[in-house]
Amino acid sequence: MILELPQIPNLDKLKYITPSIYLSFSGCLLKNYLISRSEYQRFIYRQPKTLIGIVSHEIIEKINKGHFDHLNNNEIELKIKDLYFEGCSSLLKQSLFKYSWQTIEEWPGFYLRLSRLKILAKRLVASRSAHIPVASNLTLVETNIEIFDGKLKGRPDRIYVSNNKIVIEDYKTGKIFDESGNIFSTITSQMLIYSFVCSIVYQSENVIYRVINTDNQIYEETVNLDIAEQEALKALRALELINNKIDETECDNIFYLASPSKVQCGNCPFKFMCKPFWDSGIKDELSCNSFHIKGKLIGINIIDDNYELVILSDKKLCKVIRVRFDEKLADFVNSNILIVDLIKKQENQEYLITQPSPKTLIWRDNIF
Ligand code: SF4
Repeated sequence: MILELPQIPNLDKLKYITPSIYLSFSGCLLKNYLISRSEYQRFIYRQPKTLIGIVSHEIIEKINKGHFDHLNNNEIELKIKDLYFEGCSSLLKQSLFKYSWQTIEEWPGFYLRLSRLKILAKRLVASRSAHIPVASNLTLVETNIEIFDGKLKGRPDRIYVSNNKIVIEDYKTGKIFDESGNIFSTITSQMLIYSFVCSIVYQSENVIYRVINTDNQIYEETVNLDIAEQEALKALRALELINNKIDETECDNIFYLASPSKVQCGNCPFKFMCKPFWDSGIKDELSCNSFHIKGKLIGINIIDDNYELVILSDKKLCKVIRVRFDEKLADFVNSNILIVDLIKKQENQEYLITQPSPKTLIWRDNIF
């Protein structure tokens, strides 16, 4: 798929931070800024496992809003199956990336995750009608929560509140424990921030959080609110850090936020539009699984359903082999193109041969 460069966003201050934005904060501020912008989300490559997680979470959210309350177990199963197929198909269709799998049913673990989701869904619907989790006198609340004048926001999947107690539940579709049996630190950080926000909003010092995954693993902790406050303040500082940096910028130049490094750039989905990355020379240090070519498309060979692109770049001849069929490519012969995240196969003095990875994108090089 050949793409046009999206509009480079204006450098506006971030108005708020959520636990998930905060958890992405380390290293390059430009990368983190773009991650926080909804229009740039579509350039982030996500494994099928993550896509299934997104769909499952949307379904869990519907259950938590009561959309399934009137259904019996058979109806729940059928509804879950419909929503799951619909959600996964839509993500596959919208995706910019050519996955190795042609249909969603080929995604690894597709049916296993569906059956686990059905089990979890039935339990969630049953627990909604019984108003559990830990104590029956708790009331389920459904509202967005924010503190620090709206600068810190977040919403766990379920919040139960009574006069002196809050129970927060969050559902995960993947693992929650590391190999040593400890809960992942990113989950702890997220739950502590939720806990602190809830403790302020509902004015309680008695907070319990529970993390439940689709394998029926459960982790529960009574929260130390001093530690939770520290975590919330760290998130707030991350917001201030990026906004201070934006303030320092004399012109509206988004690239001021970039700090190219081999570690950060290797997995960054925004290389295609990052001038500092291309100017830094880091691209030459990256592994042969994150290889990029800028140059003039001088020819296309068609072999079965695949293309072979021949590109002249820095006086070296480059070939990208086994590119999927895309009619648009033919219009770009003699144009400059940019191809990111290729896998390098072979190189010598005169030529270079690469092939696409699942993350590869092809751009019209009208960028720099
Ligand atoms: S390519 Fe590198 S410098 Fe550019 S946004 Fe990504 S991590 Fe930052």
